[in-house]
Amino acid sequence: MRTKIVAGNWKMNNDLKESKSLTKKIIKSIKKTALKNTRVIIAPTFVNIERVAKKAKGTKVEVAAQNMHFEKSGAFTGEVSAEMIKAVGSKIVILGHSERRQYFGETDEMLAKKVNTALANKMEVIFCFGEVLDERKANNHFKVVESQLKNALFHLEAKDFKNIILAYEPVWAIGTGETASPEQAQEIHAFIRKILTDKYDEATAESISILYGGSVKPANAKEIFSKQDVDGGLIGGAALNKDDFKAIIDAI
Ligand code: PEP
Repeated sequence: MRTKIVAGNWKMNNDLKESKSLTKKIIKSIKKTALKNTRVIIAPTFVNIERVAKKAKGTKVEVAAQNMHFEKSGAFTGEVSAEMIKAVGSKIVILGHSERRQYFGETDEMLAKKVNTALANKMEVIFCFGEVLDERKANNHFKVVESQLKNALFHLEAKDFKNIILAYEPVWAIGTGETASPEQAQEIHAFIRKILTDKYDEATAESISILYGGSVKPANAKEIFSKQDVDGGLIGGAALNKDDFKAIIDAI
């Protein structure tokens, strides 16, 4: 059975006090919840990872970073390495988020290097990808998704996918209130599994958790998560509110 995952991407929100408080509330809210085959992950900003990870240690909550550089160290002002993230208590990293691609010029080539570095450091990757609105309107979303996966991930071996979580995030649905319909999500998730089967094998494709991201809220989570190939969600806005985040976890 594939692992279900609800991951909250806090983006550039929550200072230290707010991060500690929200972490505490999330831990408390799921303490008595039987999370059958489900992982809960939160991704605070770099500067708060250490304190959040300390609070989360030994609980049902795991902590991820939102980005990472592919080099180990050096003259890369403002960047953070895999070793640095691990040293403060996180072994999971979100890579390829559309905001990184859109505002910080991340390319598939850079992401391929980041993925390699994360795996070499025995980190788990939540790999984000998805089309923009014009690509969807032009019916190019299948091609776009396939090329994003091919360029950044398909140099890997099947065994490497044990440490990869995929997050399909149509850019037009991120932070817009617009959600892909459950059918649209299922259609593309099934397509992703098919190209993974073609490139690797069915067992690999069937074992990978594929999350959906894009304006998931308590009101729509259950229907989206009910789809066969949707294994959970990457949550932005709704992850900042403990009640909404808990309701989304309950919907899985
Ligand atoms: C995201 O940033 O990954 C995301 C899905 O955001 P939102 O839920 O706010 O659309």
